[in-house]
Amino acid sequence: MIPKSHPRYESLVMREKIAKGVEEGIVHITGLIAHGRGEAFDYLIGEKTQDFAMKAAEAAAAFLKLAQHPVISVNGNVAALAAEEVVKLADAAGARIEVNLFHRSEERIRKIIGVLEAAGGRNILGNEGDARIPGLEHDRALCSSEGIYSSDVVLVPLEDGDRCEALKKMGKVVLTIDLNPLSRTARCADVTIVDNVTRAIPNIRRSYESIDDAEKIIEEWDNRKNLQKALDFICSRLQKIYSEC
Ligand code: ATP
Ligand code: MG
Repeated sequence: MIPKSHPRYESLVMREKIAKGVEEGIVHITGLIAHGRGEAFDYLIGEKTQDFAMKAAEAAAAFLKLAQHPVISVNGNVAALAAEEVVKLADAAGARIEVNLFHRSEERIRKIIGVLEAAGGRNILGNEGDARIPGLEHDRALCSSEGIYSSDVVLVPLEDGDRCEALKKMGKVVLTIDLNPLSRTARCADVTIVDNVTRAIPNIRRSYESIDDAEKIIEEWDNRKNLQKALDFICSRLQKIYSEC
């Protein structure tokens, strides 16, 4: 048991959830590495939602508001860390949930669907794999014809850079959550929320429920500028960090 008084309690709880996810066959072993990279960047942003992440969550909510067929893509890490929040966001935004894995296995898809159903999710896609994202080889290309394939706006937290580019080439609006503002995914998406999925997903839902000027938010949105703000923040924090100790 991690004591609640530990200064990095939340981070340690997340680490345990990911480790348990690996043991239960929900998180792929390489998900541990992805999580570690995320942790490092979370440390650099102070393990809290900063202004640039709040703005990006608002922009993501605006795109979801105007979407005809929004889809939320879920992998093992996201299911282990934020299953309930994904279901709540999908319900609020009228989005379908699709389990879509980089390292695809029928068994892991089934288990992740089980986690999402236990969190209240219904009609979850992913098992069928009856369509392909053009330009990708192997199983990574498989998706659901009713889900990602026919979506107009897709939220893909912790996505691989290659697949993000392929989704863009299909003409989709791609929203991502990625703690690394330098990743290819971060640079290729229409909206990049540089924040932890555990904080970003509820922030998107709260914005979705409160905004009433989606068109204006989208018109004014500049993802590159916002990523630059995230990088500037990290740089300034790195310069100041010793004075805080
Ligand atoms: P690229 O986008 O450049 O191809 P990548 O896809 O190879 O990078 P991965 O390690 O596969 O990088 O992707 C995981 C990404 O998800 C990392 O950039 C990491 O910072 C981010 N990440 C990991 N855990 C979380 C989390 N809990 N919340 C938000 N982002 C996270
Ligand atoms: Mg990536």
